[in-house]
Amino acid sequence: MLRTKAYAALTPGAPLVPWEFDRRDPGERDVLIDIEYCGVCHSDIHQARDEWGGALFPMVPGHEIIGRVAKVGAKVTRFKVGDRAGVGCMVDSCRDCAPCRRGLEQFCVKGAAFSYNSTEMDRKTPTYGGYSKRIACDEAFTLKIPSSLDPAGAAPLLCAGITTYSPLRHWKVGKGSKVGVVGLGGLGHMAVKLGAAMGAEVTMLSTSPSKEGDARRLGAAGFGLTTDPATFKRLAGRFDLIIDTISAPHDYNAYLSMVTIDGAMVVVGVPPAPTPVHAFSLIQGRRTLAGSLIGGIPETQEMLDFCGEHRIVSDVEVIPIATINEAYQRTLKSDVRYRFVIDLATL
Ligand code: NAP
Ligand code: ZN
Ligand code: ZN
Repeated sequence: MLRTKAYAALTPGAPLVPWEFDRRDPGERDVLIDIEYCGVCHSDIHQARDEWGGALFPMVPGHEIIGRVAKVGAKVTRFKVGDRAGVGCMVDSCRDCAPCRRGLEQFCVKGAAFSYNSTEMDRKTPTYGGYSKRIACDEAFTLKIPSSLDPAGAAPLLCAGITTYSPLRHWKVGKGSKVGVVGLGGLGHMAVKLGAAMGAEVTMLSTSPSKEGDARRLGAAGFGLTTDPATFKRLAGRFDLIIDTISAPHDYNAYLSMVTIDGAMVVVGVPPAPTPVHAFSLIQGRRTLAGSLIGGIPETQEMLDFCGEHRIVSDVEVIPIATINEAYQRTLKSDVRYRFVIDLATL
């Protein structure tokens, strides 16, 4: 076993503290990665505070992991020592069910092995995430990182990138599409960049007037302040697709009113409590309310290659791991521009 330094939440809601645990020695199909950077996703905060229920402790969060390959197992063919590699939200799945065979491992009928707050497919061994010095992962769940991308900026692509790329692709966004992005945080800023790169006209829908300049710099053609009721009137029926990234309770009905006939609002943000949806919000305009969960491994690689080609990375604030609890507090105040990324050299 490999003794590994980390930061963990030891109990629900406790501040993260230094902790150590054992990683497995890499098996014959495993890649051992020395972690360089790990992004801080709002899901890390929800789970460390057990806001969705059933969380496992001690918890080492982190599923936006980038590093260098330190060792490969005998049967590994796609990676060699020294390569840059990434691990996102999943480290394994059954690989045999219908969704797995379609490359939708996030919907594995046996339940994927998520990178933390989960178990390996033996359903016993806890998984620990990227707020740690290294990780062993089957090469089938290890991603190739284009060399054109800065590694700190590329880390958030492994969750924020794929979570927004996947619905943009699934709802066939392209030139001429009118896309609204709700919430300018980690996911939201990637949705703006990716939607704009796909040719869409993107409008940022935000509660923070101070973010308008950034939204436009990131590629938004328009901006709507959602604390002003006039915004909902001005943009009524406007969007083919709305991607809702808000992490806190809010009124879906208000945002649905901005979706056009046959358009869709896709929820990716996961507020801790359910939200009532009125039938009129959907039957008016034959609208769809949908959801989307990260993305499968093949699509994650496709997204990374797309970002490599278009030189798209996340706007990041690189932090030492000792300041992780402050970073959580700032994220909760919507004061993140636009993703905190931990430099694991500081651990
Ligand atoms: P984040 O960086 O904290 O961004 C969330 C943004 O939502 C904030 O910057 C803020 O934007 C807006 N917001 C926050 N509180 C709000 C409120 N009370 N009312 C209205 N707007 C509010 O979070 P993130 O990392 O992007 O994650 C966003 C959500 O997606 C989280 O719930 C996370 O768990 C979830 N998530 C889901 C998936 C998936 O697969 N579906 C994957 C990753 C994350 P403005 O300042 O612009 O208003
Ligand atoms: Zn995430
Ligand atoms: Zn499966």
